[in-house]
Amino acid sequence: MVPLLYLGGLVVLFLLWIKVKGLDYVIVHQRWIFVCLFLLPLSVIFDAYYYARAWLIFKMCSAPKLHDQRVRDIQRQVRDWRKEGTKTYMCTGRPGWLTVSLRVGKYKKTHKNIMINMMDILEVDTKRQVVRVEPLANMGQVTALLNSIGWTLPVLPELDDLTVGGLVMGTGIESSSHIYGLFQHICVAYELVLADGSLVRCTEEENTDLFHAVPWSCGTLGFLVAAEIKIVPAKPWVKLHYEPVRGLENICKRFTEASANKQNTFVEGLQYSLDSAVIMTGTMTDHAEPDKINRIGLHFKPWFFKHVEGYLKKDCVGVEYIPLRHYYHRHTRSIFWELQVLTHNRFYLCLIGSGKSGGQVNNSKFLLCFSNHS
Ligand SMILES: Cc1cc2nc3c(=O)[nH]c(=O)nc-3n(C[C@H](O)[C@H](O)[C@H](O)COP(=O)(O)OP(=O)(O)OC[C@H]3O[C@@H](n4cnc5c(N)ncnc54)[C@H](O)[C@@H]3O)c2cc1C
Repeated sequence: MVPLLYLGGLVVLFLLWIKVKGLDYVIVHQRWIFVCLFLLPLSVIFDAYYYARAWLIFKMCSAPKLHDQRVRDIQRQVRDWRKEGTKTYMCTGRPGWLTVSLRVGKYKKTHKNIMINMMDILEVDTKRQVVRVEPLANMGQVTALLNSIGWTLPVLPELDDLTVGGLVMGTGIESSSHIYGLFQHICVAYELVLADGSLVRCTEEENTDLFHAVPWSCGTLGFLVAAEIKIVPAKPWVKLHYEPVRGLENICKRFTEASANKQNTFVEGLQYSLDSAVIMTGTMTDHAEPDKINRIGLHFKPWFFKHVEGYLKKDCVGVEYIPLRHYYHRHTRSIFWELQVLTHNRFYLCLIGSGKSGGQVNNSKFLLCFSNHS
């Protein structure tokens, strides 16, 4: 009873404080409250639901059957738009808060929203070395499935939430792009619903002009309903080599050399000031030296860019073995270094796992991440 009274008292004080300060003030200046009490629990439930759903659907093999039905539904929406007299433009009905971009797409309010509810992995064909996916399948989902069966995408953009549709229609790059190119370069076929409601498939040989026009078209040519993407065999570990480099010219030189060496499966540079950076090169491997294993994706580990900065501060090179999936999503927890500007609240930083309960985040204004696509 007594704890409940305390809790009630706290809630009343909290509400009074909001009344005095104003809701706007609290949300802007004390955003950790909103994030910790609402956003984080909701995100956990949201992610758990979608991972469980994806797993179940793939195990039951129900995605391919549902796919044709979903395509027909999109065709119906497009034809309805035509029947209504094509009064406004069409756009995907995905709400802005679901995308990785912070942009608020005001056009979604005035355009005809076509609901594309397609978020499944349809088929993994290891003979052709191709995976067929729906446009809202995201990178976290793709690595969870492919890596567990020994395969991966040659170019796997880091953030879990990036979708195949966004990466094809927008753009995608990764630390393996010096070998494989951009995300679109590993795609072998697209299936689209066009503005007349027809369904077309395009590849290097079939509807070639459309195939080459789709990447970066931002949905202006049609609605993507499926993509076939190359896959390559994966190994469980990434052997990552860290090298601090000083001087802008040196940084460019070392990065160019590292990218030119195709033995390096992964090449990435994190730049912490105009003339200091850490260049990382990596290869996939089956075995790891136990004393050099670093599971960087675990909740209590430091954010990746902070961990890398350690090599710069100590001015020493280093080698680590990182589980493949942890490597791919190394920037997810901290959204590169963007999350540090959200709040410095200790409780919040503990919950999201910055690996530092002291809230000592880097205030560096100069941070740059580079991967090479020559
Ligand atoms: C914080 C941040 C971090 C990023 N990190 C990376 C990174 O690590 N690696 C990387 O390569 N890129 C990165 N990007 C860029 C990112 O890849 C692109 O912005 C990408 O387009 C976003 O994908 P999304 O899934 O959020 O798609 P959305 O923003 O939803 O879509 C992007 C575009 O594609 C169109 N589109 C999406 N689906 C369809 C469809 N089915 N049919 C037709 N059109 C469609 C949309 O209309 C929109 O024009 C980052 C961007 C941000 C903001």
